[in-house]
Amino acid sequence: MSRIIVAIDGYSSCGKSSTARLVAERLNYRYIDTGAMYRAVTLYFLQNHVSLNNPREVADALEKTDIEFRSTREGKNETFLNGLNVEEEIRKLYVADQVSEVAAIGEVRKAMVRQQQRMGRKKGFVLDGRDIGTVVFPDAELKIFMNADPLVRARRRQQELIEKGELANLDEILENIRKRDIIDTTREESPLRQAPDAYVLDTTYMTLDEQVERVVLLADMIMSRQPSE
Ligand code: C5P
Repeated sequence: MSRIIVAIDGYSSCGKSSTARLVAERLNYRYIDTGAMYRAVTLYFLQNHVSLNNPREVADALEKTDIEFRSTREGKNETFLNGLNVEEEIRKLYVADQVSEVAAIGEVRKAMVRQQQRMGRKKGFVLDGRDIGTVVFPDAELKIFMNADPLVRARRRQQELIEKGELANLDEILENIRKRDIIDTTREESPLRQAPDAYVLDTTYMTLDEQVERVVLLADMIMSRQPSE
């Protein structure tokens, strides 16, 4: 069967990453967490006190950030920034708090989109983010747009953080989610939009298994309609 690109976009904490990772496993595809790339850039900017309003500083910093995904022995895909594993650090709230501002910078987006297009060139990829079906791979064979009630999203995020041993206040998380929604949907550079040909998945009342099942079913249907390679 021919391989396709599965683009999963949507709001923060709707289950995009978990769904995308498991769908990739089921299809035997590679998974690219594009949010992790924006988080890694944000971490670099924070660590190096890059001023977001200074285009030269931003351009210099982008030159110095090398982001890659490496598989661990357990088969997990982890994010590396300049050779260091930053998978845990980039999930922390202080990074989440700044990431949407960094992701709204045109030069940052250009650099990330270029890298994502290069990575997914060969098909057989599941990517999740905000602009995959609209900007990065507008011709993706399968596009999913995920949404869920903000309070449900905040509770899921809180649970994830607690499982990682991080103290997490629900109101703070909800505020962070709302703030990111506003910045992500109103920024000038490729704002979060539903592609007209995307399947909408409201995950408020769905389990992770159900989400994965739905996307795999759609992928199978689309792949069976593709001419073989
Ligand atoms: O998906 P995740 O919550 O890890 O993404 C972190 C942030 O990165 C988002 O809130 C958004 O601001 C930004 N992002 C983006 N475009 C993408 C993926 C993430 O702007 N393709």
